[in-house]
Amino acid sequence: MQKGLLIVISAPSGSGKSTVREELMRRENFAYSVSATTRPPRAGEVNGVDYWFVTREQFEEKIKNGDMLEHAIYNGNYYGTPLREALRVVESGRNLLLEIEVEGAMNIKRQYPEAVLIMLLPPSFSEQERRLRSRGTETDEVIAGRLKQTYEEMTYFDRYDYFVVNETVDKCADDIQDIVHAEKWAVKRHLEVPSTYFEA
Ligand code: 5GP
Repeated sequence: MQKGLLIVISAPSGSGKSTVREELMRRENFAYSVSATTRPPRAGEVNGVDYWFVTREQFEEKIKNGDMLEHAIYNGNYYGTPLREALRVVESGRNLLLEIEVEGAMNIKRQYPEAVLIMLLPPSFSEQERRLRSRGTETDEVIAGRLKQTYEEMTYFDRYDYFVVNETVDKCADDIQDIVHAEKWAVKRHLEVPSTYFEA
């Protein structure tokens, strides 16, 4: 059986990534990897759904025990992908979606060169700024920080396999589906011509 794909999506804040993820999950039978983090839950976030919220000590214990597929520090907090569940899903043939920042994505690519790395971008910096402001929840200082972070994240652009621009959620989900479907038929993922080809 063909293994599932490890699909890594990285996106600056304000690129609309959670909406895109929800749309993708609605369309495809992807599994989603719930990350562990030491950042406190935001209003409405649920443990085990949005993240596994853990203490710093618990997180460091997981790293020590080799329980994380990858991890990174982002804005002073740990974030990481639990190893066991990710491997179980991929081995079962199901595609797994990870939504992680750039350092974690690089980590994954080093360990699993067959992972598919997709950078999701807002249509432009000005549109991203508009989206961040329209949330109405963040101060000017936080918004400026997010935009600066985006410039830094975009320096990783050429290390990704694909990029997708989020003009509209539908179009963006279409593009990601196209990538995933094409990847399934990449010659590099098949060690030989499928045996059914030679049947009479
Ligand atoms: P937020 O705190 O806004 O939910 O996420 C901050 C950043 O951490 C986002 O870029 C998000 O994609 C990233 N992130 C979430 N989970 C993980 C993870 O398991 N590993 C890594 N490396 N980054 C993550």
